[in-house]
Amino acid sequence: MREPYLPRGQGRSYGDAGLPALHHVALNSSHLDHFISFDSTTGILEAEAGVTLERILNFCIPKGFFLPVTPGTKFVSLGGALASNVHGKNHHKTGSIEHFVIEMEVATPAGTFVCSLDQNRELFLSTMGGYGLTGAITRAKLKLKPVQNAQVECLRVKAANIDDMFGLFAKHDPDYEYSVAWLDTLAKGRKLGRGILMLGNHAQVNAGERKIEATEVSHKFSVSIPFAMPDFLLNEKFLTLFNRAFYLVSGNGKRTRENFESYFYPLDRIGNWNLLYGKSGFFQYQCVIPDPKSEEGILACLNFLSENRLGAFLSVLKRCGDDEVLLLFCKKGYTLALDIPFRGPETLKSLDRLDELVLKFGGRVYLTKDARLKPDMFRAMYPEFKEWMETVRRFNPNRLSSSRMAERLELWNES
Ligand SMILES: Cc1cc2nc3c(=O)[nH]c(=O)nc-3n(C[C@H](O)[C@H](O)[C@H](O)COP(=O)(O)OP(=O)(O)OC[C@H]3O[C@@H](n4cnc5c(N)ncnc54)[C@H](O)[C@@H]3O)c2cc1C
Repeated sequence: MREPYLPRGQGRSYGDAGLPALHHVALNSSHLDHFISFDSTTGILEAEAGVTLERILNFCIPKGFFLPVTPGTKFVSLGGALASNVHGKNHHKTGSIEHFVIEMEVATPAGTFVCSLDQNRELFLSTMGGYGLTGAITRAKLKLKPVQNAQVECLRVKAANIDDMFGLFAKHDPDYEYSVAWLDTLAKGRKLGRGILMLGNHAQVNAGERKIEATEVSHKFSVSIPFAMPDFLLNEKFLTLFNRAFYLVSGNGKRTRENFESYFYPLDRIGNWNLLYGKSGFFQYQCVIPDPKSEEGILACLNFLSENRLGAFLSVLKRCGDDEVLLLFCKKGYTLALDIPFRGPETLKSLDRLDELVLKFGGRVYLTKDARLKPDMFRAMYPEFKEWMETVRRFNPNRLSSSRMAERLELWNES
């Protein structure tokens, strides 16, 4: 393709990573929607990059396999998931999706190459989590995870505050593959960081139970938000009451067996969930704070959010392990993801201050979710980005593929 472009998947990125740069067009991958091969003994699936995770699940669950890593929505493309090097609720155990990609084919402006950790390694490590800037991933081989059942054994435990929550993660993580905590970021004082830890393991098949049928993997919405929520409802009082009620009604120590969709993809069940934030919308802010300052840094962030009344409904804490790609987000420690309602320029100023705090603890912001990080702050958070850009430039010397994010962060200004 000679016309300037940006590869595009399902357009589910929160920020501007998926928006083409000025005078660039979106290179839609939705026609690359074929499965190429599947080996049921090894669980290796080869598929074109436009296939969605939902389609992969529909295909592989009846065969006894699951995605080895999944983000919180299945409505994304395989190519988009690789270009963001997505992580899931098992990151502390498995790392991001990069660890399960055996090889991929990338159509770069400098030619089309197959790459893996052994072949064209630098292209592999800069395309995975490279936001489409080396070109378009056209197909990939992914190693799936064997499962016996499409259900998840869940345990929900309440934490009275953030210290309690850190203790619960440490106590339960050895026994559970997946963990994620919802936090009440509007709670103050002794209740700061209270929340609910949601743990899960793939369920085992008991004698006499059948495996799931393909038709049971549904994409139906349980409910749909019909219109944008009026802004006056998104005030601090309402949000505080909502969070308090959610915390209080949630059972402590409750064990359930749930369909994978309600554990992994709760938002996918609410059509137009973004309208809950009204016409002004929201920013998704996700940062990671690595060890050894992780707990201290998360506590400082929660204090900042509470003092500045920045929290909302959806604030999520997860543990992270380590990754290998050139521009990596996850580092061993904790990651905090927040939906912050947009209330005008003050919100942007507050988020700039939050960036400074995250940086002070050695942390960084997740670019997939970002739309506002400043170029200097990005450089301070991602000092290794120069090495990544060197490879990007080798395969994409004339910025044929570029995004709004690349322009905003002034990535191409680096010589
Ligand atoms: C509700 C929700 C929950 C989420 N939860 C998580 C989570 O838990 N963990 C996580 O890591 N992320 C999460 N995300 C983010 C999401 O996984 C990523 O934004 C993902 O990249 C979106 O994929 P997409 O197909 O929509 O890609 P797009 O949004 O269309 O594109 C995303 C990026 O990928 C590039 N790209 C797309 N296709 C290709 C291709 N074929 N070749 C090269 N580059 C390509 C684009 O240029 C762009 O830079 C979540 C998003 C939502 C909406």
